[in-house]
Amino acid sequence: MKAMRIGRTLPPAAAPIYFRDILSGIKGSFQGQKEVDRFARELREYFNVKHCFPVSSGKAALTIILRSLHKLHPERNEVIIPAYTCFSVPSSIVRAGLKVVVCDVTPDTLDFNFDQLRKILSNSQNTLAIIPTHLFGFPADVKKTRECIENFPEVVVIEDAAQAMGSKVMNRKLGTSGDMGFFSLGRGKAFSTVEGGIILTDSDLFAHALHEQIQLIRGYSGIDQIKLIVYSLILFVFMRPLLFWFPKALPFLKIGETHYETDFSIKKMSSIQAGLSRGWQRKLESFLQVRIRLSKHWVDRIGNLSHKNISLITGISSGKWNALIRFPVLVHNGIYKEKILLESRNQGLGIIQTYPKTIDDIPDLKTCNDDQEFSGARECVEKIITLPIHSFVSLKDLSKIEKLLD
Ligand SMILES: *Cc1c(COP(=O)(O)O)cnc(C)c1O
Repeated sequence: MKAMRIGRTLPPAAAPIYFRDILSGIKGSFQGQKEVDRFARELREYFNVKHCFPVSSGKAALTIILRSLHKLHPERNEVIIPAYTCFSVPSSIVRAGLKVVVCDVTPDTLDFNFDQLRKILSNSQNTLAIIPTHLFGFPADVKKTRECIENFPEVVVIEDAAQAMGSKVMNRKLGTSGDMGFFSLGRGKAFSTVEGGIILTDSDLFAHALHEQIQLIRGYSGIDQIKLIVYSLILFVFMRPLLFWFPKALPFLKIGETHYETDFSIKKMSSIQAGLSRGWQRKLESFLQVRIRLSKHWVDRIGNLSHKNISLITGISSGKWNALIRFPVLVHNGIYKEKILLESRNQGLGIIQTYPKTIDDIPDLKTCNDDQEFSGARECVEKIITLPIHSFVSLKDLSKIEKLLD
């Protein structure tokens, strides 16, 4: 049992929801499907893609993508994912009735270990899809993943851009390089509608298959919609650092934990969420600017620490990124790391370990290839902590965190 802390507490990641967004959400509910269509149209224009499907969460988006693919290729049932990623990803794969195959990552890039990826691909005829992931918003090399599957033309690339909505690499928006891509509009993501997920694709074939699957799922019931509005009010009030200790102290809100669970709900997006999204392009951009500014701050500061217990992820120091959602750093000394995490809990600084296990180590999950070694992913679990870089982080918070790290 963790001790409850009362007082200013930063969330590890947060996209603010304002009161006027909630009013737009309520207004949106009177517009019905028209409001959802408006949001989908704006997304298609912004991302310059032919098809867009708004659903209830990132997990729902990925599950629907996988179900639609499995319908197209019933003989294939394996999905390759990074061994270090959000637990929602294997949750969705299992929910779609498919098998999880993990591939190691390199701590330098948080991307696949491409040598192991090639081995995994040539060892199996059942690969349905592969999921390059922009973890923490740091861009994965989707092109390189594509090169690896050149000889496996049936394997579909699903871009997990859950944490990367609005980020760019070389002027290409993340989420638009895969055969399909998805975003999350959850609480700790780039931009939030309480909960939500977006699927993008340029392919008419996939769009048709997605459409078929979406026909099979329900929308939000009246009660679900009331819950959405209540939850948006809770987030509006309690996401502020001054009050965030309160929802954090309520165990049923499961805040700050990463869960492997396969019984999440899968619904079409409601008009309330679409209404909440109004003006999203402007919000997304302004949140993104804050995160870029704070990320640059950390790049400078971590580079200049008086000791070498903490270092930047190599890819991040090389500057090939645009906007992150949390700022990951490597801590090379276990005792020092525990001290930082403990002190962050005591002072409410929003520094967390993020993913506590590699995917092959999740107790309730059976992966296909757990005989392999995932030393890179293990290193990420041992060493990565993330610093908060969202709009609620004040100058005073920054200097507290700096003092703690140094
Ligand atoms: C959050 C997240 C998801 C799932 O999105 P939800 O909206 O929370 O279901 C999937 N992948 C990654 C990398 C995520 O961070």
